[in-house]
Amino acid sequence: MFQKIYSPVQKIEINPFSNFFVKRDDLIDPYISGNKWRKLKFILERAKFEGKNHLITFGGAYSNHLVATAAAAARFGLKSSAFVRGEAVKNEMLLLCSLFGMKLIFVDRERYKNKKELFEQNFNTDQNAFFINEGGASAEAVTGCAEIIDELEETYDHVFVAAGTGTTAAGLLKAIQAKDHKTQLHVIPVLKGGEFIREEISRYTSLSTHLNLHNEFHFGGYAKTTPELISFIKKFIAETGLLIDPVYTAKMFYAIFELQNQGKISNNDKILAIHTGGLLGFFGMKDKFNSF
Ligand SMILES: *Cc1c(COP(=O)(O)O)cnc(C)c1O
Repeated sequence: MFQKIYSPVQKIEINPFSNFFVKRDDLIDPYISGNKWRKLKFILERAKFEGKNHLITFGGAYSNHLVATAAAAARFGLKSSAFVRGEAVKNEMLLLCSLFGMKLIFVDRERYKNKKELFEQNFNTDQNAFFINEGGASAEAVTGCAEIIDELEETYDHVFVAAGTGTTAAGLLKAIQAKDHKTQLHVIPVLKGGEFIREEISRYTSLSTHLNLHNEFHFGGYAKTTPELISFIKKFIAETGLLIDPVYTAKMFYAIFELQNQGKISNNDKILAIHTGGLLGFFGMKDKFNSF
């Protein structure tokens, strides 16, 4: 059903590292970007297997997952609808969703919490409706994300990934365990109180010593930034030619430099950062970058 994924590994020349590589999942697709495609792939296969052609999902007004689901649905001839958290707004992300034919249903934060109920109340008569959890979190998503590791032709000392729900990290960990790599997986939660990620990962695989959870790089919480993070982003982009987003990947790249600084990883270690995409996230943060 799906074409082969194009996600090269690229070497990045940047001080002080001599073996720094990036897995360019951001190149998979501009809209079905990065780990959102990894997470959707087997979900869409299951929808197809069950003969369902209407995807129903959930997200905030700047959700990469909503755009990815809308674009994937359009591309594979499916319908899509989404419950959007909060009062009705217009922005670039939701514009893309509606261009891809997604029907948007705004619901207040209280009602948004009960997703199964929203699904059942609104789509109980639609035989084609297929429930996809917020962010695509599911066992299928974990299987899809494990393929990131399976595609690698070499092994690395350290693999880094940003985490929102931890589903992507769970897939990576599972694949690393299956290969019995000596690879250390470093997970950077972008939310405050990231310890919950450990629990989320343990729903899908065992918590082995491969896992290193770094809870100190949230910069105040989800979608929060500091002047320090913003200047890191500008410097990193200008020096590497690689775009990173303020919500997810910037916090992960920042962590790599900081852990090197603290002597926890060495300049010569072979490092692979997973670029999980999400570059449309810039649209929610324009104001932070206007003052150049
Ligand atoms: C959604 C997203 C993540 C988080 O993935 P989880 O599986 O929820 O941990 C990381 N990076 C980017 C760019 C994302 O859009």
